[in-house]
Amino acid sequence: MSLLPFLADRIREAGFSCLRCGSCCRETEPGSNLVMVGHEEISDIMEHTGLSFGEIAEPYPDRILEGDLDYTFGWVLRRTGDRCRFLDESSCQIYPVRPWICRTYPFVFDENGLTIHPCEGTGQNVGSGDAEKIAQDICRRYAYEQEQDEKIRAIVRSGTIPAGRPVVIDAEGIKDYHG
Ligand code: SF4
Repeated sequence: MSLLPFLADRIREAGFSCLRCGSCCRETEPGSNLVMVGHEEISDIMEHTGLSFGEIAEPYPDRILEGDLDYTFGWVLRRTGDRCRFLDESSCQIYPVRPWICRTYPFVFDENGLTIHPCEGTGQNVGSGDAEKIAQDICRRYAYEQEQDEKIRAIVRSGTIPAGRPVVIDAEGIKDYHG
C-alpha cells in the first residue's frame, strides 16, 4: 500500500475533527507549541499579514554550543507569553496560510512512522474526504521537511559555520541570530 492511502486509513481509524479549542497553539508543557516554519511558509504569512519576517518568526530556541560555535537550526513562529502570536481567543488569525505543522497536527509522520499526539479532537468522526486531505498535507509536509533537512545537512557538512557569533542555519543558508 502506498503512503497516502495508508495514512488516510490510519487517520480514519484514529478519528479526528478539529474542535477549534486552540490547545495545540498554547504552551501546555515546555515547548509544546513550538511551530517550526520554513522560508516559504514565512513568506506566505508575510504576504497575508503584511508583517515582517522578524515579526513572524524567531530562531529555534535551543542553541548548540560547540567550542567557539553557537548555532541553532531554523525558525519558529513567535509566541506571546504561552500562546502562538497568531492565536486570537481560540481561533487562528492566519488560518488560510497556517504552517504545515498546524495543518496536520496531531498527526506527525517521519522516519519512525506515524505518531498521533494527544488531542481532544481524536476519536471524533472524520468528515468525508478529510482523512485524504490530511494525509495529502502530511505527505507534502514530510517531503518539504526532507528537502529542508537535506539542504541544512549540506551546509553543516560544508563546515562554513562562523565562529564567535550566534547564527541560525536554515535551508537558505547561515543567518545572524536575532531573538
Ligand atoms: S499559526 Fe494558527 S494554528 Fe498554528 S499555532 Fe499559531 S494560532 Fe495555532
